[in-house]
Amino acid sequence: MEKIAIIGGGIIGLTLANYLDNKKFDVTLYDQSTGQATGASAGIISPWLSKRRNKQWYALAKDGANFFPQLIQDFDLDDSIYQRSGTLLLRKQKQLEELYELAKKRREEAAAIGEIRLFTEAETAEHLPLLKPTAALHISGGGRLDGIAYLQRLRSLAKNKGIHLVNQSITLKQTASLQVVVDKQTVNYDRIILTPGPHLKNLLKPLGYHTDIRPQKGQLLAFQTDYTESANWPVAMLDGEADLIPFAEGKILLGATHENDGSWDLTATKEAFKQLICGASEFLADPARLFSAPYNYRIGTRAYTSDFAPFFGLLRNELLVASGLGSSGLTTGPYIGYLLANYLNGKTITDWSAYQKPLENYIHR
Ligand SMILES: Cc1cc2nc3c(=O)[nH]c(=O)nc-3n(C[C@H](O)[C@H](O)[C@H](O)COP(=O)(O)OP(=O)(O)OC[C@H]3O[C@@H](n4cnc5c(N)ncnc54)[C@H](O)[C@@H]3O)c2cc1C
Repeated sequence: MEKIAIIGGGIIGLTLANYLDNKKFDVTLYDQSTGQATGASAGIISPWLSKRRNKQWYALAKDGANFFPQLIQDFDLDDSIYQRSGTLLLRKQKQLEELYELAKKRREEAAAIGEIRLFTEAETAEHLPLLKPTAALHISGGGRLDGIAYLQRLRSLAKNKGIHLVNQSITLKQTASLQVVVDKQTVNYDRIILTPGPHLKNLLKPLGYHTDIRPQKGQLLAFQTDYTESANWPVAMLDGEADLIPFAEGKILLGATHENDGSWDLTATKEAFKQLICGASEFLADPARLFSAPYNYRIGTRAYTSDFAPFFGLLRNELLVASGLGSSGLTTGPYIGYLLANYLNGKTITDWSAYQKPLENYIHR
């Protein structure tokens, strides 16, 4: 059996681990958990109306969103983990009309976008009573993924598959072969797959690689409200940085910040609280009801490349990498994990050029 180590138990690492053929591979997944983006994420799966011009990123995000029905089936994800809740976009009237046209165009190649409708003020408030009456664009295919619940489910499936889950930080060492260093002990593997988010840069440095990755701090607020009917509410992408992501039993997420200066810092700040509630207040029907609910912070570190695009693939035959997922990694991460697993299982070739620039653009000696 081939011995594989996966470094990083976020959305890519755990999805990949679960898609690997357990008759072929003996898999160990190392995860230190600190600063993990997946566990801190807001949960929005709705890439179609992004104005980003990077065609490869859009192809990856579109196919990543298309992949969700298969993911749900393969891992038996219930509504508490993923729900096709629909998405509301709140913008000025003229922008809504432009987005409506864009949505119709994008649907020609992305049926997953679902039904597209311009909502009247009253319809918006009826579908999402958190909001005051405001015109909005509704797309029925948008969804929300609970990152924490997803990882919990995949860890449980991984254990059942015989995958070894090790809660430890590792480093890499190059001697005659590439080795994993755990607690000062070196361990040999046939292949090592690095899915450590922004930590990829530090992991590859001792091997002589320069990696184009920077960490970005993200904070969001998770309110435990007394809204009892929140389970089927749509996600609202507000005009500005704040978005509202309702989950069952009154849990409402408000996020997220994008703090380039924060880099690795994981402390909760009053400034983030202020920024998020200011961003949302003007859209809310009853701001006091939401903001007086008990809340906690979720804080994670996103990985960004210079061109904001993810990368994944073979750095060397025995070393695979995936990182740079930025702020849309819940959408692209599961699909990247699946593609890498398919390659390792022997099912596909490695031409992923439709989805990304060559790996050398991001990692070089
Ligand atoms: C606040 C916030 C909100 C977000 N909202 C959304 C959203 O709404 N929609 C969306 O699509 N995306 C969102 N994202 C982005 C998304 O969460 C990330 O792009 C995605 O989760 C990255 O997944 P990953 O597996 O690459 O990395 P991570 O989830 O960061 O996982 C990497 C793991 O590797 C571990 N690790 C690192 N180094 C080592 C080491 N040396 N040894 C062992 N383990 C190690 C880390 O501790 C971590 O657990 C958000 C991110 C944040 C921070």
